[in-house]
Amino acid sequence: MSNASGKVFVLTGPSGVGKGTVVSELLQKVDNIYLSISATTRQRRESEKEGIHYFFKTKDEFQRMITANEFLEYAEFAGDYYGSPKFSINNYLSCGKDVLLEIELQGAKQIKEKCTDAILIFLAPPSFEALEERLIKRNTESIEKVKIRLKKAKEEMKEVNLFHYLVVNDSLNEAVDNVIGIIRAERCRIK
Ligand code: 5GP
Repeated sequence: MSNASGKVFVLTGPSGVGKGTVVSELLQKVDNIYLSISATTRQRRESEKEGIHYFFKTKDEFQRMITANEFLEYAEFAGDYYGSPKFSINNYLSCGKDVLLEIELQGAKQIKEKCTDAILIFLAPPSFEALEERLIKRNTESIEKVKIRLKKAKEEMKEVNLFHYLVVNDSLNEAVDNVIGIIRAERCRIK
């Protein structure tokens, strides 16, 4: 006995909290869950690959996708646009596969409205100072962009009550285990 349609899991948390690491660990450990690859207008980082980390778009291309209603959700974040393309998400769900969206707060709110069964998980840092240190050490953004991201982080952390689950990323292994625990429990939930 199984559900015909897959479930949508949303993982949100401030930039630098370690969402990417948690996601890549859990994808190796949990079967039948697929990461939605987002489109973004942000510049590609050296370590990133087209179609694996993101679909990198110009602002015009992104705007065309908005107009064509190709996004399940999209948002502007720190001066760039990010969106979850509907196409692959719907394909996975209709085959009974679960989908994981790693997105920021505005997008999580849109998903909560549109997909009322979606399970929303907030990944929080152990402290704001720890987040600041991580973002600076990561060295992927200019100091101005880091400041914008930290301001966003403060706003995001105030809205934790919109989420179904809160996981603190103090120890990576524990955070991954907790997210996996949530996914497994939700798969067994009757109501
Ligand atoms: P980054 O530039 O660090 O890769 O991502 C910046 C923020 O955008 C992160 O919080 C990330 O989770 C979020 N993000 C990535 N893809 C999407 C998306 O498709 N939609 C939304 N709303 N946020 C996204």
